Amino acid sequence: DKQKRVRNFSIIAHIDHGKSTLADRLIERTGLLTEREMQEQVLDNMDLERERGITIKLQTIRLVYKAKDGQEYILNLIDTPGHVDFNYEVSRSLAACEGALLVVDAAQGIEAQTLANVYLAVDQDLEIIPVINKIDLPSARPEEIKNEIEEVIGLDCENVPMISAKEGINIEDVLESLVQIIPAPEGDKNAPLKALIFDSYYDSYKGVIAYIRVKEGAIKPGMKIKMMATGKEFEVTEVGIQAPNQVPVDELKAGDVGYVAASIKNVRDARVGDTITDGDNPTDKPLPGYKKVVPMVYCGIYPAEGEDYNSVRDALEKLQVNDASLVFEPEASAALGFGFRCGFLGLLHMEIIQERLEREFNLSIVTTAPSVIYKVKKKDGTELEIQNPTNLPPMTEIDYMEEPIVSASIMSPTDYVGAIMELCQNRRGTFNNMEYIDQTRVVLHYDLPLNEVIYDFFDALKSKTKGYASLDYELKGYERSELVKLDVLINGEVVDAFSIIVHSEKSYERGRHIASKLKEEIPRHLFPIPIQAAIGSKIIARETVKALRKDVLAKCYGGDISRKKKLLQKQKEGKKRMRQIGNVEVPQEAFLAVLKFD
Ligand code: GDP
Ligand code: MG
Repeated sequence: DKQKRVRNFSIIAHIDHGKSTLADRLIERTGLLTEREMQEQVLDNMDLERERGITIKLQTIRLVYKAKDGQEYILNLIDTPGHVDFNYEVSRSLAACEGALLVVDAAQGIEAQTLANVYLAVDQDLEIIPVINKIDLPSARPEEIKNEIEEVIGLDCENVPMISAKEGINIEDVLESLVQIIPAPEGDKNAPLKALIFDSYYDSYKGVIAYIRVKEGAIKPGMKIKMMATGKEFEVTEVGIQAPNQVPVDELKAGDVGYVAASIKNVRDARVGDTITDGDNPTDKPLPGYKKVVPMVYCGIYPAEGEDYNSVRDALEKLQVNDASLVFEPEASAALGFGFRCGFLGLLHMEIIQERLEREFNLSIVTTAPSVIYKVKKKDGTELEIQNPTNLPPMTEIDYMEEPIVSASIMSPTDYVGAIMELCQNRRGTFNNMEYIDQTRVVLHYDLPLNEVIYDFFDALKSKTKGYASLDYELKGYERSELVKLDVLINGEVVDAFSIIVHSEKSYERGRHIASKLKEEIPRHLFPIPIQAAIGSKIIARETVKALRKDVLAKCYGGDISRKKKLLQKQKEGKKRMRQIGNVEVPQEAFLAVLKFD
């Protein structure tokens, strides 16, 4: 029976512990690609992913391994994204597996995302195989790390593979463990179809390609299928496996991992986590755990040049076809003109979209301060959800407001506990508890307002702990909070793109900070430029960009020709990234600079 020799697994790890490198070695060792064809990190195929070393989009790949018992096994490797913004995708891809390889760096040991991923895998009842990687490093402490995994996570490490993914050492041990330890999939091939979608993307020829794990029944071309979350029906045009290119097959059966195409036009109709069933013979209950993911962070995205509006819209539409969690709608700003309000899973997701707009679509864009969703209870009894500070009703109409709170786990060497506590305190955190992992490391649990986390919390944490601390968080709920809208006036005009919602206790500090940052960022003009921060009509901070002196200008323009050329060139480059607000030119960097606090 073929099903007995299938192993479906994921690789989980803290970022940089070697997940992608190990995936490459497994692909190479199973002979799927020869060493020459092997491009480093086959699975991370977007440029951005490669540069940042993160996995954004899930990928799956089917390997065939001839084990020491002489049998051939099918190993379906399902890749998971490696960042808190994409935790739901991680949990769905784990739900498609029976087991997971837990890669731990032999020099770094267990870190926050190691634990977060282990919890997700335990939730899915997976068999977890620890793997100690980077044993080639001089600083490797494999024996210590082995004890750590046994003590902290409680996994048996007696036969733990100790490998170097980079040098290709002991990779066979990993493959043998996969075959021996991970159970074969179960599931009735003759029951009505139940297949879990764990990834999907849009292909311009075949329509949406959904990556699925068939849990029960079978799926084949010609069949009518139904998406259980939306009730929408489609006819299957192709099913196949990824090995490493798409290879069509006759059918996918219970236990199999593969892809399905069904002339679906939008990734929204093949949502990650949804269950596909047979349209003519549907199952009564979907697979558990489906969640419609909702954006947590919003910001405005505006073309730097007004005439690029349509190009920005086209680009966002194109990105959205492949990214069901990106949302956007048109909005207008008095300062920035016409643009879009965009919603993201988190800050990383937001940065990725911004970067892709600039790189892949060659657009110059201006983004406004990110905002979370606030709940506003008005005195007249109505409720609003606000994701753009500009839309906040006047304070006199508001009874009270609520803001989102996350529960955060921060793992760090004990040396930095003081610094972390200070940072969390400054960010309005509520301390819950502290756990010792071992003598040298702790996990701190804090409740933090998401609004404080989305700015530069992660950067601040890294810099205060020399890069040693790691962070994981999830949404806990909404809590009532004393919030105010902080406006910024440049040359007497409110610039709506700079408005933010802040806690009242922080408003003065933040107002002063923004005013002084803007003073640094806005170049001198021929006239003085007052910069003010205000709450309602009350000015709480003030700075002035002094006027240029005439003789400075004269000197510039009187100089030799090459210097003049250089200056003109510089101005031209500068121009592109400037935004005209009233009669003041504000550089694009100013919009981001105001977001950094520590
Ligand atoms: P991921 O973030 O978990 O996917 O980690 P990567 O596979 O991208 O690896 C992160 C970094 O660690 C890269 O620079 C790899 O070359 C390096 N790396 C991975 N495995 C090993 C190993 O076994 N030994 C050493 N010395 N470096 C490794
Ligand atoms: Mg990676």
